[in-house]
Amino acid sequence: MGSERMVKYKMKITKDNVFYSFCSRNEQAVRVDAPATLDFETMDCFGNQLRNPEDIMEEINWDRINPATGPVYVNGAEPGDALKVTINSIELNEKGTVCCLNEEGILGARIEGSHTRVASVSDGKVHYEAANGLKVDIPVKPMIGVIGVAPEGELNINTGTPGKHGGNMDTTMIGVGATLYLPVAVEGALFGLGDLHAVMGDGEIGVSGFEIPADVNVTLDICKGRAQEYPVLETEDYLAVIVSKETVDEACQRATELMQEIIAERTDLDMPDIVMLMSLLGNLQICQIVDPEKTVRFVFPKKYIPGLMF
Ligand code: CA
Ligand code: ZN
Repeated sequence: MGSERMVKYKMKITKDNVFYSFCSRNEQAVRVDAPATLDFETMDCFGNQLRNPEDIMEEINWDRINPATGPVYVNGAEPGDALKVTINSIELNEKGTVCCLNEEGILGARIEGSHTRVASVSDGKVHYEAANGLKVDIPVKPMIGVIGVAPEGELNINTGTPGKHGGNMDTTMIGVGATLYLPVAVEGALFGLGDLHAVMGDGEIGVSGFEIPADVNVTLDICKGRAQEYPVLETEDYLAVIVSKETVDEACQRATELMQEIIAERTDLDMPDIVMLMSLLGNLQICQIVDPEKTVRFVFPKKYIPGLMF
C-alpha cells in the first residue's frame, strides 16, 4: 500500500540502534517532526544469534534478547497524546527460526532440553520441516511482536514485557494495514519496534513465533490529548483494545471495560445497548499468554456502529 510513495522519503534506522528496555532515559536514535515515515531495520528476538541449524540456544548471550530498534524522539509528542503508528510495509528476511525449550511456554514441562528449527521463507510461505520429515508450508502473516513507547517517569520496562506502553504484546493483528495508537507518557514518546514474526498463532503457546529479521516501514503522527490507558488498534474493519495484565482474567476485564468506554464516548448508545451489542458482536481474543504479563484484545467490528473509530 503506497509503497512507491513511501520509498521516496527514506529515513532508515539501522540495527546499530537497538535498546533492551523502554525507558525515558534512553538516548534517542533520531529526532523527527510528525508526521514522519521511517524504515526500521530489526533483528529477530534472539539478536540474530540463532540463524543456522548448528546454532544452539545454550550458547546464546541472553543480554541480547528482544532488541528493539530506535528509539525515535517525535518532536511535540507529550504525555497525554496518542502516538499514531501506521504500519505501511514489512519486508521479511529469507529465513527465520522457531524454538521451544524446557520449562518455557504452556507445554514447557513436557519438553526436554531446547530445540530450534531454522526454515526458509519464499513465495509467501514458511517452509517448515519437522524432524520426521513432514514438510509444512505455512502462509506468512507478518506481525510486529515488540512495539511501544517509553513508560512514564523513570520506569524501565524490559523489551520482553508488555504493558500500557505497548512493548512485547505479541499480537497477530499488529501487521501491515493496521494503525496502532500508543499512549505517550514522556516528552518525545521514544518509539521503537522489533521482534518480527513471519507467522504466529494466537497465544504463542510455545514461547516463540517464527522469529525473523525484517525491515518495517511506519508513519508516526501525533493525536493531541487522545491517549487511552492501553494501546488501541484500528484496521479497515475492526477496532481493538490491547490490554496486558498479570492474569488473562484481569486483562479480559479491563479490555472489555475500555472498549465499552470508547463506544460510549463515540456514540449516544445507552449502556444496556452497548453491553448487548458487545456481547453479540465483540470478540475477546488471546494475544499471548507466555510473557511476564498476559495480553488479550477486545475486538469490535466497526461497520455496525456508525462513527466508531479511534
Ligand atoms: Ca515476543
Ligand atoms: Zn518474537
